[in-house]
Amino acid sequence: MITRNKFRNILFIYYSSVFVLFTLLILGYLYKREKDFRISTLNDELDKITKVVDNYIRVNSIYEKGNWVLTDSIVRLLPKENLRVTVVNSNGEVFYDSSVHDWKSMENHKGRPEINESLYSDFGASVRKSGTTGIDYYYFAKYYKKYYIRAAVVYDIKVVNFLTARKYFLIVIILAFIAIWLVLLAVTNKFAKSVTKLKDFAISVSNNEKIDFDSGFPRNELGIIGEEIIDIYKRMLNTQNELANEKEKLFSHLNALNEGIAFFSKDKTKILTNNHFIQFMNIISGELTISSSNFFKIQEFDQVLDFIDKHRDTEIKSSDLPKAEYNISKNGKFFRVLCVIFHDYSFEVILSDMTAMEKNRLIKQEMTSNIAHELKTPVSSVKGYIETLLNDPAMEQEKQKYFLEKALAQADRLTGLINDIVVINKIEEAGSTFPKDKINIKEIITEVKDNFISSIKSREMNMEVIVPDEVTITGNRSLITSIFQNLLENSVNYAGSRSKIVISMYREDEKYCHFSFSDNGIGIPEEHLGRVFERFYRIDSGRSRKSGGTGLGLAIVKNAILLHKGDIQVRNRIGGGLEFIFSLPK
Ligand code: ATP
Ligand code: MG
Repeated sequence: MITRNKFRNILFIYYSSVFVLFTLLILGYLYKREKDFRISTLNDELDKITKVVDNYIRVNSIYEKGNWVLTDSIVRLLPKENLRVTVVNSNGEVFYDSSVHDWKSMENHKGRPEINESLYSDFGASVRKSGTTGIDYYYFAKYYKKYYIRAAVVYDIKVVNFLTARKYFLIVIILAFIAIWLVLLAVTNKFAKSVTKLKDFAISVSNNEKIDFDSGFPRNELGIIGEEIIDIYKRMLNTQNELANEKEKLFSHLNALNEGIAFFSKDKTKILTNNHFIQFMNIISGELTISSSNFFKIQEFDQVLDFIDKHRDTEIKSSDLPKAEYNISKNGKFFRVLCVIFHDYSFEVILSDMTAMEKNRLIKQEMTSNIAHELKTPVSSVKGYIETLLNDPAMEQEKQKYFLEKALAQADRLTGLINDIVVINKIEEAGSTFPKDKINIKEIITEVKDNFISSIKSREMNMEVIVPDEVTITGNRSLITSIFQNLLENSVNYAGSRSKIVISMYREDEKYCHFSFSDNGIGIPEEHLGRVFERFYRIDSGRSRKSGGTGLGLAIVKNAILLHKGDIQVRNRIGGGLEFIFSLPK
């Protein structure tokens, strides 16, 4: 409301100023016209007076007789107040003056502007202050061949008189002013609603207040403009929301990434980073620097800095963005750093944690050399036996059989080794895509036991299975078989003769069956317990190689159990021997 009145007040001031200026201009013009008119009437009047005086002088031959006092009588008869008549000869000497008695002593009038002027034009006129009365006089002079006749009256063309004469004009002007103001008010009222609405809208926007979009604007030009503005604002809000959504998505995407990503502006200030970036930065710097503004203080990223500075002054094409890539190894972790500069010289830095991959690569490398090493022994044994046979064709039948059996045993070992490697690779590559079935665990154990029955008998070992007949688990048949096969093989090989093997399902919960697999043999020295599940890890390589072991059995067991989302632990039994405790899903 206040603003609305303010708007009206300003409008009133402008309007009044223009109106007053306009009125003054008209008044000025009218005044000038009035003045001109009055002067010309005065001139006509005074002209007539000089003519009457001239006629009187001529009729009475006053000039010829020099009887100028006579002129007084006609001047007194003339119907004009305060009239002063002066007769001046061609040389400027005063012949007669109606208001001075001793006119002969008067100064020469040749220099008077009205006298001078009348010599060259129809008449001469001028306004001057009278030396005696101090009042303004209007002098009118006319030349009559032998003399000038000058008539003067008090000059009284006054503005006050003029204004009173124009009273009606002023009243009309004021009425027009009020009428136009009322019309203006009506027009502004029509627009004021739109203006007020637009103003309220602008204030709400700038104060971040709730905006009432539905309040209608009046149907006029300003109203239409207002509606358009609000419409544009609505669309802008929508776009802003969409943009915010996209940004949100981008943020979540960046945070879901395994890589650390940061965007920097041309002047190296951070625009955006994800959590991983800060985390990796902290690992690399070794300090809890948290803020990404410290990025360029970290020595490991000097290369990025050099790279960016190098490209500061080169032209960058969107199709061929400059990239720099290098690796960092810090505190047992491996990172790849990738920096890309965009065409506006802003840039991104991507940090990837390559530790797992790098470790995997090292493990694979180690495993390949282990495999090669493990393969070498049986292959060279087989080769040795065959060579011996070839070099001595006359060898006794009995001896030949001995060597062939040895070669066969080594070949069997090779086959076993290759099978193990195949299983391990399969577990790693196939992951959870292994086909799964309901498997009766008792059946599997019986099957495995049958495979080893002769070895068990020859070692006078004893085996007890405490697993209910109907228990089933969900898993892959060949992998589950492989678990029990490897465990039993180990007990048979390492526990020692006359030892006892016990397989029991000691607990069952909602999701898992819990098993214990134990023997009462020699067990494993405590310091080795933590590593028995590693590939190719053997406690006493001499002893296990003798029994054909390569250290893959327990690695297979552990991987197979983990693949089934189970868990396995190993411990030495109190009374001696080794015990594996593991779970398999129902
Ligand atoms: P593979 O099983 O590949 O033929 P391996 O038997 O040597 O070779 P693992 O089954 O992984 O390899 O066993 C690792 C080591 O753990 C063995 O070399 C052995 O020394 C020790 N070990 C395993 N089971 C027992 C056990 N029941 N009693 C004593 N020592 C064992
Ligand atoms: Mg084994």
